[in-house]
Amino acid sequence: MPILNVNNLKAYFLTIRGAVRAVDNVSFSLEKGESLGLAGESGCGKSTLGYALINLLPPPGKIMEGSILIDGIDVAKLSEDELRKKVRWKKISMIFQGAMNALNPVYTVGYQMSEPLIYHEGMNKKEALEEAKRYLELVGLSRDVVNRYPHELSGGMKQRVMIATALILKPTVLIADEPTTALDVIVQAQIINLMKKLKRELGISIIFISHDLSIISEIADRVAIMYAGKIVELGSSDSVYLKPKHPYTQALLRAVPRIKGKKEKLTFIPGAPPNLIEPPSGCRFHPRCPYAFDRCIREEPELKQVESGHFVACHLY
Ligand code: SF4
Repeated sequence: MPILNVNNLKAYFLTIRGAVRAVDNVSFSLEKGESLGLAGESGCGKSTLGYALINLLPPPGKIMEGSILIDGIDVAKLSEDELRKKVRWKKISMIFQGAMNALNPVYTVGYQMSEPLIYHEGMNKKEALEEAKRYLELVGLSRDVVNRYPHELSGGMKQRVMIATALILKPTVLIADEPTTALDVIVQAQIINLMKKLKRELGISIIFISHDLSIISEIADRVAIMYAGKIVELGSSDSVYLKPKHPYTQALLRAVPRIKGKKEKLTFIPGAPPNLIEPPSGCRFHPRCPYAFDRCIREEPELKQVESGHFVACHLY
């Protein structure tokens, strides 16, 4: 049984120049203990989708249509007060892009980690600090980090603190938006291993957002490839990486350098992602697609199953 069901979700930014259709009719589900990687070029809508899932779109962002069902609650329909009390951090939690720089420099780690426990769980300060220490240990930090200030921590340590804080109210789903960006490769590997361990030990479901397909391949059970606000391919990591079907996924994978194995010439995708105020008709990828034909310009392809558990939105299938 999926624990998260997203149906026909539309999240737009309502600007004076028109509606930017950043997430446009997206549907997917997530199983308990599953990790789903969301990948695509910058501006494809993956971070907006993450924000929409906790109904925390920055203005002028708005959920226009669709549902986000978790434990029978539709996150898209709740008021701000209900979201704060019932959903955010308790059911769905998020590590924001660049979050490690968002730690408040004037408060200790313990103070900042205790706040959600005091507010949401009604713990007193002593109980909250003890729980904070337990979560610091869980993410591989020592208990005395509670007494430290952010400037006393390395980038990797700060990111571990952010992960511990995101998990402290025991959410069912954790959304991690580019959690390894700005970290060196050794620390990136440590953070990925930590997230795998947390998924295994806590049974948490993870939505891992990244533009880096090699990082996603390390952690994701399934991958959703986004282009211009839509999911264009969705399937198990093995199936999408080994047998990519959508021309955009194929092009993305050809643009990733390989260290081992058969060396292939790197190619780039010609053109740029479209303007989402007036996206191209039919298939949004058609102006850049080498296989485009008449129908692609006229008719939008639906995401359909082409192999067991492997979905593609392309008229070639
Ligand atoms: Fe290319 Fe047409 Fe498939 Fe779009 S639907 S990816 S334009 S072949």
